[in-house]
Amino acid sequence: MHEYDRITDEVLCALGAAVGEDNLVLFEPMSAHTTFKIGGPADVMLTPRDKESVVRALDTCAIAGVPVTVVGNGSDLLVGDRGIRGVVILLRENYAAIDVAGTRIHAQAGALLRDVALAAAEAELSGLEPLWGIPATVGGACHMNAGAYDACAADVLESVEVYEPGAKAPDGTNMRGFVRTIPVSELHMGYRQSRIHDEGLIVLSATFSLAPGNERMIRADMDTYQKRREEKQPLEMPSAGSTFKRPQGYFAGKLIMDAGLRGCRVGGAQVSEKHCGFVVNADHATAADVNALIEHVQEEVKAQFGVELEPEVKRIGVF
Ligand SMILES: Cc1cc2nc3c(=O)[nH]c(=O)nc-3n(C[C@H](O)[C@H](O)[C@H](O)COP(=O)(O)OP(=O)(O)OC[C@H]3O[C@@H](n4cnc5c(N)ncnc54)[C@H](O)[C@@H]3O)c2cc1C
Repeated sequence: MHEYDRITDEVLCALGAAVGEDNLVLFEPMSAHTTFKIGGPADVMLTPRDKESVVRALDTCAIAGVPVTVVGNGSDLLVGDRGIRGVVILLRENYAAIDVAGTRIHAQAGALLRDVALAAAEAELSGLEPLWGIPATVGGACHMNAGAYDACAADVLESVEVYEPGAKAPDGTNMRGFVRTIPVSELHMGYRQSRIHDEGLIVLSATFSLAPGNERMIRADMDTYQKRREEKQPLEMPSAGSTFKRPQGYFAGKLIMDAGLRGCRVGGAQVSEKHCGFVVNADHATAADVNALIEHVQEEVKAQFGVELEPEVKRIGVF
C-alpha cells in the first residue's frame, strides 16, 4: 500500500483534534519551509502549538502507521520535487517559547537559535555567540549538534526533553511513545551527530546552561561572528549551508574549488562563486538539479583527489 493511502479521514480527524484544525494543512509546498526554497508538497503538515499537541500528533501517526517527518527551520534539508508522503510536523514559530531563569535558558524546539542567543545577550549570558548565525531551530541544532567557529550546541546544552518513539506492536505498527529528559552527557554528541539523530528522538525542548557575561561584549562578539559569515558565505542566495561534511584532513570547499568546479551549474543549481562548499539555488533550481550537481561534485572530487565527499545536507522525500 502507498504510504499516503494510510492517511484515512479518521486519522485526519484525529490529527485535527490533536493540533487544532487551524494547524493542519494539506499539500503544503515544502519550498515555503526550506532555506533552499525547494521542495514539493507534504501530504499533511501540522504546526502544533504546545507539547501535548506534538505528543498527541506523534502518537496518532505511530499508531496509524503514518510516516512522520519533523522539520525545524528547513536549513539543512533538500526536499524532493515530489514532496513528502505522510505527515510533516513543523516545529517553528508556533512552538518557540523562550524562558530565562538565572543562568539557564529553556527553549521550545521551534525557537530559532538566533532568538535564544538574543535572549541570552539581553540577560547578560554568554556562550551562544559563535552559534547565533546558524539559521537553526533549537530542535534542528540539537539533532545535528550544529556548530561553528570551534563551538557546538553540545558545549552549551544542559539537557533536552525528547519524545521517544514507542516499541513496535505485534502488527508492525508503533505503540505510543513517551517523553523524557536526557542530560547532554548521555546524548553522545559529536561532529554533526547525536543520539537524537541515531535513535530518531524528537526534541520537544532544550535547556542551555550559560555563563554570566557583559551584554556589550556579548553583542560585540556576535557582530564579529556575523561579519565573518557575511564575508565568506553566500548568505544572499538560498542554500542549505555547507553541502558536504568536512572530510578528514581536508576542507570540502577547497577541494571543490581546486577541482575547477567554482560556479559549476546543473539547471538552476550552482556551486557558489563565493564559497565553493555551498551549493546555491541560483535560479529556480529543482531538487533534481541540486541532487545532480551534488553527485557531479562528488564524482569530480573523487576522480581528481580520491576523497569521498559525504553530503551534510539531508535529502528527504520523493525525488
Ligand atoms: C546559510 C546557512 C549557514 C549555515 N551554517 C551552519 C553552521 O555554521 N553550522 C552548522 O552546523 N550548520 C549550519 N547550517 C545548516 C543548518 O542550519 C543546521 O544543520 C541546523 O542545525 C538545522 O536546523 P533546522 O532547524 O533548520 O533543521 P531542519 O533543516 O529543519 O532539519 C534538519 C534535521 O533535523 C531534524 N529535526 C529538526 N527539528 C527536530 C526536532 N525538533 N527533533 C528532532 N529532529 C529534528 C530534521 O528531521 C532533519 O533530519 C547552515 C545553513 C544555512 C542555510
